[in-house]
Amino acid sequence: MCLIDYHVHTPLCNHARGEMEAYVKQAIELGLREICFLDHLTLRPDGGALSMSPQEVPLYYQAARKLAKRYETRILVKVGLEVDFDLDTMDHARDIVNSHAFDAIGGSVHFLGHWNMVSHRGRDNCPYSDCQDMFAAYLDHVESMVDHSFFDFLCHLDVVGKFGDRPGDPMEEHWNRVIEKIAAKGLVVEVNTSGLRHPSGVIYPEPWLLQKLHKAGIRIILGSDAHSPEQVGKDFDKALDLVRKVGYERLVTFSKRQRGSISIDPSPLRLASGKA
Ligand SMILES: [Zn+2]
Ligand SMILES: [Zn+2]
Repeated sequence: MCLIDYHVHTPLCNHARGEMEAYVKQAIELGLREICFLDHLTLRPDGGALSMSPQEVPLYYQAARKLAKRYETRILVKVGLEVDFDLDTMDHARDIVNSHAFDAIGGSVHFLGHWNMVSHRGRDNCPYSDCQDMFAAYLDHVESMVDHSFFDFLCHLDVVGKFGDRPGDPMEEHWNRVIEKIAAKGLVVEVNTSGLRHPSGVIYPEPWLLQKLHKAGIRIILGSDAHSPEQVGKDFDKALDLVRKVGYERLVTFSKRQRGSISIDPSPLRLASGKA
């Protein structure tokens, strides 16, 4: 099947394991058509332990390009960054993004203020007494990320629910505002299977949200958020079932930040001619 995984990490972020080459080999094993390294770039002073350093970016970029060359007859290997959106470090991040010919740039929210929202260890320090307040703060931050976007796609759009928290009111109005802005900017949204490995147990974005995105004409890309080689392409069968049900027929791809797309289900005619 002609599939893609646009979100895999490397040990450079200090919390993933496995050589970069092992991720590529696993993708080949699964028959993926493309794999894109999207390792963390977190520039905020309290995020250094979760990210490669700016000095490591050239090494990372070159390592991915070398793998692309080595495996060019078997798979397309691409390279991008998962940038932590933070107003204070935004200009620096943009300079780093522009310093190399990256294929795709993802934007993420992992922190609310100084609080690492996605960390198991940070759960006890949650500054919000109320789930509603936490979701509102998250959505405000996502809205700001969209307003200031220099990204190609948005990663794990509803990761705020990672630990299973859900506000009593689903905050539809707030989500609608965010979705309108995403659509107006023409941003792509990632369907990320890592939620199935998290306490929430759901793919990001959740089905009701993905339906809203589809209705708004927002296009999607696919990622596993693998932090080890065996997580490459993880649960893509479930993700594809979901996106088909919602009505999507194509996935976005990127090369040097130019958008392309592939069919989720190649037509039987094309498959037949491919075999001939
Ligand atoms: Zn992330
Ligand atoms: Zn990630």
